[in-house]
Amino acid sequence: MQFSELAAYFERIENVSSRLEMTSILAELLAKAGAKEIRHIIYLSQGSLGPSHLAIEAGLGEGLIEQGIARAFGYSKEEVEKLYKETGDLGDVAKKLGDKKKQSSLFSEKLSIEKVFSNFKKISETEGKGSQDSKLKMFAELLNSASGTEAKFVARIPLGNMRLGIGDPTIMESLAVNYLGEFLKGKQTKKEIEATLKEKKEEKRKEEFWRKARQRLREIIEEKYNIYSDLGGIAENLKENGLKGLEGISIEPGVPIRPTLAERLPSSKEIIKKLGRCAVEAKYDGFRLQCHKNGNSIIIFSRQAENVTHMFPDLVNAINAQVKAKKMIFEGEALAYNEETGQYFPFQITIQRKRKYDIKKMSEDFPLKMFAFDIMYLEGKNCMEKPFKERRKLLAKAIGKGKIIELTKSIETGDAEKMEAFFLESIENGLEGIIAKDLSARYIAGARKYAWIKLKRSYKGELSDSADVTIIGYFKGRGKRTQFGLGGLLTAVYDEATDSFKSIAKIGTGMTEEILVELEKKLSKISQKEKPARVDSEIEPDSWVKPFYVIEVRADEITKSPMHTAGKTKGEPGFALRFPRMIKFREKKPEESTSVKEILAMYKNQGSIKLNETPG
Ligand code: AMP
Repeated sequence: MQFSELAAYFERIENVSSRLEMTSILAELLAKAGAKEIRHIIYLSQGSLGPSHLAIEAGLGEGLIEQGIARAFGYSKEEVEKLYKETGDLGDVAKKLGDKKKQSSLFSEKLSIEKVFSNFKKISETEGKGSQDSKLKMFAELLNSASGTEAKFVARIPLGNMRLGIGDPTIMESLAVNYLGEFLKGKQTKKEIEATLKEKKEEKRKEEFWRKARQRLREIIEEKYNIYSDLGGIAENLKENGLKGLEGISIEPGVPIRPTLAERLPSSKEIIKKLGRCAVEAKYDGFRLQCHKNGNSIIIFSRQAENVTHMFPDLVNAINAQVKAKKMIFEGEALAYNEETGQYFPFQITIQRKRKYDIKKMSEDFPLKMFAFDIMYLEGKNCMEKPFKERRKLLAKAIGKGKIIELTKSIETGDAEKMEAFFLESIENGLEGIIAKDLSARYIAGARKYAWIKLKRSYKGELSDSADVTIIGYFKGRGKRTQFGLGGLLTAVYDEATDSFKSIAKIGTGMTEEILVELEKKLSKISQKEKPARVDSEIEPDSWVKPFYVIEVRADEITKSPMHTAGKTKGEPGFALRFPRMIKFREKKPEESTSVKEILAMYKNQGSIKLNETPG
């Protein structure tokens, strides 16, 4: 496929805001793509050059992109900068200048997708002395062969943001659309779906049938994605072998598994009502790490599936020394502790271990302990289907004894009072609370299904739990905050039903000056003039930002609000957080923020939460 055709598809997607339309255009594009290029199309649609865990980056900053545009189209850097200030997007600048050039000269070479992709791959691999010049040269050459629309997307690739609003869910949905015909060839599948239909009228029944069939297939694709975080690879398998191709996808050390998420309930009593006898573990407040061991090769992934191995040489050594298994994938929470007193440091200290420089010194100053809590893969076998109780035994055996990696502190009980006592003990020890675990549940990758239920520390007069919200915009600083360029945030929760972000709070407190500076630096890089495609908000911030950063907030309560769209329906207002304050950045994907459903449950539960007063 020519790159011009891909760019035309991207432009169509950019110009629609309905998810349904977006899905159908993307499905059309993916259906047309050849087996060799579909993988690259998927990566490019997300502004990347590979699955996110490989973190392949072009390494061209804004300055170089401006220079490339200037060089390719014969302008000065100042002229490009001026246009950038006016439009707010370097892609739009490249399109404008590329279009002008179109009238005056012929393109030197037609661009194919493969050419664009492989040149960017080369750009990303160019390192060392003189590399900036070589990168710039290759980038300008690509632009030089590009028409206006092509140039727009060529310029956006190194920015890592194509502004299409395509998230993983939309890609999976489009793949489901394309393989629905094959899926429904199975008579048994058809029967099973028909058995779930509720509509009586023929016409509506048909509609319901198609919706449910697509949903079921999307779930099957997502189950694979949950254990193999590479949608490009999955799409290629589908293209080559149809739905049979999914069978070939399995857990592989080196490819991250999407983490299980915890539900929440307001008291020990309710947890016991839900789970009965269960495991109760201390909840540590550090960072979640997924460790992959394959012989001597060890890779550690963060919760966001970034490869963070180089940040934790102490943990790599500990895994080598302590873990007996040859091949294993396990998870745990790592936190810094004081060797003198044996006490754990608060999150603000632990987080300092996530850094690019001074790694050795920091690992000596703030050594980590890792509390292992689950195992997904052992000696070539997937153990996610085994009940939790069995997995815990496997984990204990595989890890062996040692000082750095330990199992999480845990009890087994069916008694709410015992659970409450364990909860209070954890709090006293400076931990965050507890996580109760269903003894018979499998490891549910990428989802929240009451296999884990958290209960966190409560502060009097506040919501018992915090919420994790996604930043969707920000307000310019006024008064004292003018100097920071940022005075407050517009934030949202995630609505699974529509795969969109619905506004819930404007946040102006809880940020230190340092955090304000950091926020401005981070957010200005992903700001945009237009409301992002998957954002639903009636409040207009000074700048919109692509849903990317998740922060933890505390609030006094959840109130009904006509201003916010979270939970808003035709006749009913939405919800807002009252007196929200930022606590910290969270290492979560935007889709893992607190959901509208959870907010609704928290709204109903508030008032009945009296953790500090009565045990159970
Ligand atoms: P939250 O992020 O508040 O939804 O709580 C879930 C997180 O708690 C997990 O993603 C882990 O990072 C962390 N955590 C701490 N201790 C445990 C534990 N014992 N079991 C599972 N997760 C834990």
